[in-house]
Amino acid sequence: MELPPFPEKRSKGRIKGIKVNKKEREGEILFDHKKRGFYIKKSDEIFGYYDSMTEAFYYKKILMENNWDASSIKKKITQRVHINKKLDLNKKYKVKLNYCPNCRSKLKIDEKECHSCGINIEEYLYSN
Ligand SMILES: [Zn+2]
Repeated sequence: MELPPFPEKRSKGRIKGIKVNKKEREGEILFDHKKRGFYIKKSDEIFGYYDSMTEAFYYKKILMENNWDASSIKKKITQRVHINKKLDLNKKYKVKLNYCPNCRSKLKIDEKECHSCGINIEEYLYSN
């Protein structure tokens, strides 16, 4: 009987495959220009649209913790919609980030350019 190969003797292709699967395992957050919102994507499935990247990260974390079971965030989204109805339905909510998406330094409210690395926040989000 032949023993299975030691890890260091496995083909490089296999290790590459694991790297490629990171997106597959963890999903990704993208920005939709038309909808002007962030969305969570895993494989070809989309898990909702969000006003801010912080929010999208929050829901992605919940999804990962619940093995990408969409029902795990459904209840929370309903609660959010309910809260928004109470606030103001006609108001346009801007994308707000607490941290610079490029260098991670803390942003002040409504800051359009990062005071640390100098990027235009909106331009950066649109081009990434
Ligand atoms: Zn910055």
